[in-house]
Amino acid sequence: MHATTRGILARALLSLGLTIALAWAAALFAPLTSSSFQPAPSGGDWPAGRFHIPADWTPRTWLVRTGPGLRHDLISESLWMGSTLGMSDSTAPNRTRILVSVGWPFPALAWTVYPVPPEGNALAQAWSAGLPLQGLLGTGDPRRLPIRPSWVGLALNLVIYWLVLTWVMSMLTRRRLHRAIEHNRCVRCGYSRDGITPATPCPECAAPGPQAPAA
Ligand SMILES: [Zn+2]
Repeated sequence: MHATTRGILARALLSLGLTIALAWAAALFAPLTSSSFQPAPSGGDWPAGRFHIPADWTPRTWLVRTGPGLRHDLISESLWMGSTLGMSDSTAPNRTRILVSVGWPFPALAWTVYPVPPEGNALAQAWSAGLPLQGLLGTGDPRRLPIRPSWVGLALNLVIYWLVLTWVMSMLTRRRLHRAIEHNRCVRCGYSRDGITPATPCPECAAPGPQAPAA
């Protein structure tokens, strides 16, 4: 495989690994540190496809709680009564949907909190509701290990990590080249070029010398 292709593949895999590792770390450990109410959204896909509110719902509460790499969205037909949802005949059927998203800087994986386990086989359940973990979130909801991507956040994180890794790698390459030239060594294999004229290729790996004749 070409070295450039290998580098691109390595960076892509490393970016994906970092995205998933940070998301799972938040799912395991991150606390919820702040909360805010948002104007209740109408039914339909929302937001950025992260969660589906059926069109026949009448959402009245949208409470967003966040922590480092962690986001807890509660959308309900019930009204918020200070510290809890107030279920009443006027807001019936009082349906609620909770989505927990993890990842940094953007939510990349998510799970839905269900009052009863979702239907379907084990894989479908894990895709939707994540895998069970010890411990609770500050809301009292159990912590879960998510496997379902939030596509927009996942893509944004991948691009960000990709750019950072590319920048770091180019800095390292530049430093290595600079050092090789400074110590009169081959820039490719590090073989000492002492006593070799600048126009001569490296005797070890045949890399062109620092003053190779133009091809
Ligand atoms: Zn060499």
